[in-house]
Amino acid sequence: LFSGVLRTPTRSEGLPMGRVPNVLAAASLVAAAACVTQKPVPTPAPVAAEKAPPVPAGPARVEKTLAEVGLDASALDRSANPCTDFYQFACGGWLERTEIPADKSRWGRSFAEIDKRNEAELRRILDAAAAGSAADPVTQKLGTYYGACMDEATIEAAGVKPVEPLLKLAREVKDKSTLMKAVVELHRHRVWALFDISAEQDFKDATQVVAYLDQNGLGLPDRDYYVNDDPKTKEIRTKYFEHVQRMFKLAGVPAKQAENAAASVMNLETALARASKTRVERRDPAGLYNKRTRAELAKEFPTVPWDAYFAALGRPDLTQAVLTSPAFFAAVDKELRSGKPEDWRWYLQWTVLRSAASGLPKAFVDEAFAMSSALSGQQQLEDRWKRCVDSTDGALGELLAQPWLETMFAGSSREATQTYVAQISKAFGAGLERLDWMDAPTREKAAAKLKSMVYKIGFPAKWKAYDFPVDRKSHAANVLASRAYEMQRDLAKIGKPVDREEWLMSPPTVNAYYNPLKNEMVFPAGILQPPFFNVNADVPVNLGGMGMVVGHELTHGFDDEGSKFAADGNLQDWWDPKVAEAFQARTQCVADQYSKYVAVPASSANGQELPAVTLDGKLTLGENIADIGGVKLAFSAYRQLRRDAKEAVVAEGFTEDQQFFLAVGQAWCTKAREQVARMLAKVDPHSPPKFRVNGSLANTPEFGEAFRCEPGSPMRPTNACAVW
Ligand SMILES: [Zn+2]
Repeated sequence: LFSGVLRTPTRSEGLPMGRVPNVLAAASLVAAAACVTQKPVPTPAPVAAEKAPPVPAGPARVEKTLAEVGLDASALDRSANPCTDFYQFACGGWLERTEIPADKSRWGRSFAEIDKRNEAELRRILDAAAAGSAADPVTQKLGTYYGACMDEATIEAAGVKPVEPLLKLAREVKDKSTLMKAVVELHRHRVWALFDISAEQDFKDATQVVAYLDQNGLGLPDRDYYVNDDPKTKEIRTKYFEHVQRMFKLAGVPAKQAENAAASVMNLETALARASKTRVERRDPAGLYNKRTRAELAKEFPTVPWDAYFAALGRPDLTQAVLTSPAFFAAVDKELRSGKPEDWRWYLQWTVLRSAASGLPKAFVDEAFAMSSALSGQQQLEDRWKRCVDSTDGALGELLAQPWLETMFAGSSREATQTYVAQISKAFGAGLERLDWMDAPTREKAAAKLKSMVYKIGFPAKWKAYDFPVDRKSHAANVLASRAYEMQRDLAKIGKPVDREEWLMSPPTVNAYYNPLKNEMVFPAGILQPPFFNVNADVPVNLGGMGMVVGHELTHGFDDEGSKFAADGNLQDWWDPKVAEAFQARTQCVADQYSKYVAVPASSANGQELPAVTLDGKLTLGENIADIGGVKLAFSAYRQLRRDAKEAVVAEGFTEDQQFFLAVGQAWCTKAREQVARMLAKVDPHSPPKFRVNGSLANTPEFGEAFRCEPGSPMRPTNACAVW
């Protein structure tokens, strides 16, 4: 469900769950509410076998319970009107009885259930690896890494010593050359001061990997936190200012100095934030692609010592780089010219401390958690073992995946997913034929893109190596070693052909992604589990769960971003201008629809009034297009797969069509704390789960028919959007 262009998704970044289920949506939809309550039509009680009448034409009827087909009867709220708020109908019971665990900021029925199971199994593997004296190097490495992470006594005793070499470089900054020396050493460990560098496929030459230089260097989750002036944002900024001071004090900086230090940090980060692109601006791939030769870099940004920078990274040979924002680098250049060395010293030390905090003693971990808690509303820090499972997955993901797959991945889910992908791809192809807004030449190119789309299921064909040392006595050193190794792995790709086997997520990850640069969909084993996919569930339910995810990823190839890349992964205008215009009008319909949804309702706490937050229809456009397409494709695939069925299954009164839509709804039942909902509304390209369900089903005519909704009711609007 991740669809970043430049970013490598991490476990938390790519989290597919949206946010808060809450509040009724779209003013226009509510205004149109003339829906008569239409409960699913009850079916007659099962007839005893001997009295069964002869079956007339059409399939025979088979009665099952909701549990038997793979749905959760207790999650339903039968008092809700499915034509007004289907999410409430499918999830209301679950929402009512579910409490978000104290150590979580949100909790989803499917994702959380799978995550919990995964975590427990990963813990079992890692505990055994850390305790035993295994002979095989994979288990040994896992055990050493995890063991060091769990060893709190040793971590306490070490203090900030493991990051002292980086802090020292930061303290020694006195001019441009010492500044760049420190910056590059931080970058070698993927500690992103000022900006970041990564290796990505060349947007305009899918055979080549080039260096990308991107905006970065902020401690808060988005530029908006530095530039917006509403009371809530100001409050977070104040908290952040105090947090920076406390972190410095923990690192031994005297109180008086810590205040000045925090002011330096705020000044520099604010300057970077002001120059940063917004998340909506970053959805334009053409705008992110600004290639420069080394000579051009030197000329345009003369204060940055590029030669020294690339040399220190071990790639003095690089001849070019792509800038995601020349304006941002102009600002960096200006700051380098005018910034005071003292400000730089504090900013760089701060960047080291915040990046390393989770590997440092408890006081740092707690302080970092207090800040993130202010942003997310999470009440309690996760247990250490959970954080160490995450850390091991991050550092040694494809090693940890190997024993996990042995116990957790059944081959049957791989085959089933293959069937779904084939069927869904066919459905997209058939849909293309029927699109009235597309001309023949563009249609042909779209069909070619579909045909060349690659899919990967379960786990990679070859495993990554992790050739860095791990030390049982220093967790922080292991984290830094892992980061330095990944940096080298990344930089080594530049100038080489694209590696088509590489995965951007580890196999246990409960997520999926589409990568427009490789025109590929990837489904890690983590998501091919109940309730998304259940070998014992019926076809409509599996298609509503896993099938919708498959259709969603496929549609990303044709969303507002993906549609700008051609079949071979090159950024290219392959659309006839007239067709592009028609596409644009259709996506605008989606943007307008979702912009009316209220992501977080107004609230008041501690005498502070917080305004409602509406969804950003532009930020979430790609994901919404993918959701709408995903439901449509999965529905059509399910119908195909059941075309020749000899019987029609009715589950506690729900028809197969209704079961499909219930599965879609129940896959997304989610609760989130208000704080995290407010944060996600700014930064998450996914809509909150409620609108992932209601928004996409309101655009699916078959939904309104299945639940017999009145035309014009919220879930069957007369102005529905259709893109694909
Ligand atoms: Zn997605």
